[in-house]
Amino acid sequence: MALARMGRYSGIVMMRAVCPRCRGQVHAPTAWSSAWRCDLHGEIHPLAPAKLPTMDGLQALVRRAKVPVWLPWPLPTGWLVSGFTGAGDDRSGTLGSALAVSGPNPLGGPAEMLIIAEEPGVGLGAGLAGLPGPDPGDGFAASQPYATLKVAHHEAPLWLVESDGKAVFVGEVAASWVWLVLWPDTAGTLLLEPLSLCDLRDPEHELDVPFGALSPRLPA
Ligand SMILES: [Zn+2]
Repeated sequence: MALARMGRYSGIVMMRAVCPRCRGQVHAPTAWSSAWRCDLHGEIHPLAPAKLPTMDGLQALVRRAKVPVWLPWPLPTGWLVSGFTGAGDDRSGTLGSALAVSGPNPLGGPAEMLIIAEEPGVGLGAGLAGLPGPDPGDGFAASQPYATLKVAHHEAPLWLVESDGKAVFVGEVAASWVWLVLWPDTAGTLLLEPLSLCDLRDPEHELDVPFGALSPRLPA
């Protein structure tokens, strides 16, 4: 009985994968094509519904990830991990990861941040930031960098991307894009100081990660 229910549940999960760029419905591979497809964007890497934030779910994402799974660490005071998801299928592995954190805005009220890592062309960061994408485009690094990431004793610049009602930053670490998307835009003040990120795939990290309620910024 439990198994039958499980089978039905995983079927629903597969059907509910969405396009990482537009969150539209996607078509599963067929006998003629091994790719998932979006009517609007063609071949895409299907985005799974966000998982309830638990350590088991996070470890499952980390095991499949072919890109970093970035966690701001240490977390800003009072912040919690509020969800995560990945884009990619069994064949490709996870080529785009997104992790949500929620906590107090330094300027008052609640705030949320998504941290996305992805291979070029996946379009998950631009999709979650509400930008046409899939990548930030050639002009994005034309100005001075706005903020700095610290990753394993290295620093990486971040550029601000124009966006309404939120703060969007993009950079590149180890040949993959890293996007930070913050709501409201005033929460971008969290990046006045360099932000330290750790890659959860790094086995040296055994972190006591605090989890909160699932963020509505990720596809449910
Ligand atoms: Zn699409």
